[in-house]
Amino acid sequence: MRVDLHTHTRASDGTQSPEELVEAAAAAGLDVLGLTDHDTADGWAEAERAADAAGIALVRGMEISTRLDGRGVHLLAYLPDPTYPPLVALLDKVLEGRNDRVPAVLERLRTVGIDLTEEDVARVSGDAAASGRPHIADALVVRGVVRDRDEAFARLLNPGMPGYVDRYAAPLRETIEVVTAAGGVTVVAHAWGRRTARIPDAAAIAELAELGLAGLEVDHQDHDERARAELRGIARDLGLVVTGSSDHHGTGKVGHDLACNTTAPEELERLLALAADARRAAGRDAPEPLGL
Ligand code: AMP
Ligand code: ZN
Ligand code: FE
Ligand code: FE
Repeated sequence: MRVDLHTHTRASDGTQSPEELVEAAAAAGLDVLGLTDHDTADGWAEAERAADAAGIALVRGMEISTRLDGRGVHLLAYLPDPTYPPLVALLDKVLEGRNDRVPAVLERLRTVGIDLTEEDVARVSGDAAASGRPHIADALVVRGVVRDRDEAFARLLNPGMPGYVDRYAAPLRETIEVVTAAGGVTVVAHAWGRRTARIPDAAAIAELAELGLAGLEVDHQDHDERARAELRGIARDLGLVVTGSSDHHGTGKVGHDLACNTTAPEELERLLALAADARRAAGRDAPEPLGL
């Protein structure tokens, strides 16, 4: 059984529709697909229909932008009730923060002679739940300022670059509690990727496990072999579920093809058992995995 638990669509910053993603996942030989757009469940309904038609199992989730000690942490949330009011409020605040930042980024880009309008960005964001830096990057590509998203981030949009503006992210501990109360389970995404400091470190992960964190995404393209080995050891010591995923964004992220990392079936089983427990404890009509 081949399982990929972290992917994006045009509901956030992927380049495929939910239907296209599901079809690509089936074509890639996956048996189970996790859909985890940034801070939204907007893609779920279309993905459900497509998964049913394609005969692939679907685990509905999202990737929430959080913050711990001033550093960004991406938290994968699987199977929470997306109508749970505290979760809706938390996600709205993140999406609003992302949208509200756009004019400030455009202002900063003007200071280096790049003239991009909000309409330029809106055109490429389409029906995404919010306009993020990847959409600003796409608008820069359309304008011919950069070749691709990578160049846009490297030259303009990453921290320290002229177009960088910070935005709101939800407190990590609170987010774990809200997702759990919504009947879902949480996994820290690419914990030690793309940064020199290892945040959360082993001690912080142990504390998060106490709070109800279910797992760690260990196999991810942003992790080298050493990070993977150390994270696997931490997960084993704490009894956390170990996942592996592509973090596929269609053509929006190079080197993240579907199924380039996968989750072991027994780890998926543990994750789903924890989700079933959380669903019961929350007493909410949280979604269940489809086709499993
Ligand atoms: P935002 O949350 O709006 O600040 O945008 C951050 C998102 O941009 C991340 O979650 C990634 O999915 C995406 N991203 C970051 N760096 C790159 C890159 N070099 N190329 C493409 N997408 C990226
Ligand atoms: Zn993304
Ligand atoms: Fe992420
Ligand atoms: Fe992601």
